[in-house]
Amino acid sequence: MFGMMMNQPLSIIEILRYASDAHPGAGLVSVRTEGDLHRETYAEAYARAAQLAHGLRKLGIGPGDRVATLAWNGYRHFEIYYGVSGMGAVCHTINPRLSAEQMLYIIGHAEDRLLCVDLTFVPLIEALADSLPEGLKLAVLTDRAHMPDSPLDLLCYEELLDGEPTTFDWPILDEQSAAALCYTSGTTGNPKGALYSHRSTVLHALSVAVTISKSLYEGARILPVVPLFHVNAWGLPYAAPITGASLIMPGPKLDGASLFDLMEAEGVTSAWGVPTVWMGLRSEIDARGRNPSGFEQVVVGGSAAPRSMIEGFEKSGVDVCHAWGMTEMSPVGTHGQLSAPMKELPWDEQMRLKSLQGRRLFGVEMKIVDEQGQNLPHDGTAVGELFVRGNTVVSGYFNNSEATANALDSEGWFGTGDVATISANGFLSIQDRSKDLIKSGGEWISSIDLENIVMSCPKVASCAVIAVAHPKWDERPLLVVVPKGEDRPTLEELHELLLHSVAKWQLPDAMEFVEELPLTATGKVSKLRLRQRFEGYRMPDAG
Ligand code: ADP
Repeated sequence: MFGMMMNQPLSIIEILRYASDAHPGAGLVSVRTEGDLHRETYAEAYARAAQLAHGLRKLGIGPGDRVATLAWNGYRHFEIYYGVSGMGAVCHTINPRLSAEQMLYIIGHAEDRLLCVDLTFVPLIEALADSLPEGLKLAVLTDRAHMPDSPLDLLCYEELLDGEPTTFDWPILDEQSAAALCYTSGTTGNPKGALYSHRSTVLHALSVAVTISKSLYEGARILPVVPLFHVNAWGLPYAAPITGASLIMPGPKLDGASLFDLMEAEGVTSAWGVPTVWMGLRSEIDARGRNPSGFEQVVVGGSAAPRSMIEGFEKSGVDVCHAWGMTEMSPVGTHGQLSAPMKELPWDEQMRLKSLQGRRLFGVEMKIVDEQGQNLPHDGTAVGELFVRGNTVVSGYFNNSEATANALDSEGWFGTGDVATISANGFLSIQDRSKDLIKSGGEWISSIDLENIVMSCPKVASCAVIAVAHPKWDERPLLVVVPKGEDRPTLEELHELLLHSVAKWQLPDAMEFVEELPLTATGKVSKLRLRQRFEGYRMPDAG
């Protein structure tokens, strides 16, 4: 027997329509590439998304067509998210930090019809021009007055909108229709496309909104440093309008001082981004001796947040929510908000819980399995490969039958490539990417655990632990450190620190100092490049 309830297909444009009705005062503040600050309400964004849809239709863009973006966090990027998906086309965000080769591969693979670029990226497109697919139209996200002199045939975004009606007859789409496309960073092999649907996107937004509720509430002012150009800024462009939170878009200026000033001026209540970004902000907070006023919560994820960073924010009264996820999961999978009884626990225990990757979002199931694919217990000890399942997880990859064939196990779970434990109270603890684990004498060593502890040494600015080949033990850990000042740590003192928490055989055999760690296109430490750099490294006892 079926229930007797209406069936309205879930649709992305409904989010903005709702926000413009229910939260008319909320909206976007954007640092523009033109140099000034721009304000727009969700109602205005909804009207401009309609104008954009008209403009795109005139360019011949229709349902299913891919419209790509190469842009910072700003209101025009946000309008494209809605205008493009709303008209039934697919918003394809491109990460400008990818190599030129990867970018060209993605543009070709996605068969983009139009590429919308911020002023900043016009030189990049000019450099790639000869290799861009024929027929790809280019638009610059600015007005006529700021259009650059360029040998390319460039459309002007504001002219696409000018004079168009501020309402659009948004089509009623099947909720399973494709809405947005984002490629994985592809550290090895070609990037693979996660193709989100209207249904998956709306469900993800709702899950994020109800779970990370300390950030997402009516009147909140959220700073997404996590980019719209990758992993949908963790769903914020969709979750914020639902709740009536405003988005403070930082544009291209992401250094600690610029972020601090923007947060202060705009009364930012929460800020979302990867740990590397918060290192910059933390130094600025330390230098000024205070937080930006009104700062309540930092949401951190994308790579493991070091406990020292979490404690630094928490001690100054800023709540830390440590989240985990991936491109293939829309992307948020877990959140680190503590339950009411957990907030009664001793400080140390609370900080330990916050350093873990948190509990699953509603709708995301998790299992860990051994090498034979057998389920392992959720006891906080058993370490296995993490698989996930749910409405916000990919079922395969866009136009890639080979990768799709390998994406799911025989029971339909997606293999994350992460190695983890899950505790009885549901807390996920990521030990490593499976390819970054260090295999020493048949036992695994978690680089994340070691890094976390080393980061608590005040002489360490940042660090990474990588596997180095060893004739006796297969692999042994090498510690790579960026020192904070002149007074460099010794390996002995770091060993002493580590021995409080890890076994002797897990201690790094050697340490090397570097000026900075190589980062991936998403701001994570690139272990791949570090391993390449230290290829052939000989440990002291390796003969
Ligand atoms: P991106 O393309 O953003 O780099 P990926 O989807 O490749 O995104 O990255 C997802 C991976 O990042 C996860 O599988 C995990 O290894 C790592 N990751 C994300 N969040 C965390 C976290 N909080 N702690 C540890 N690792 C994380």
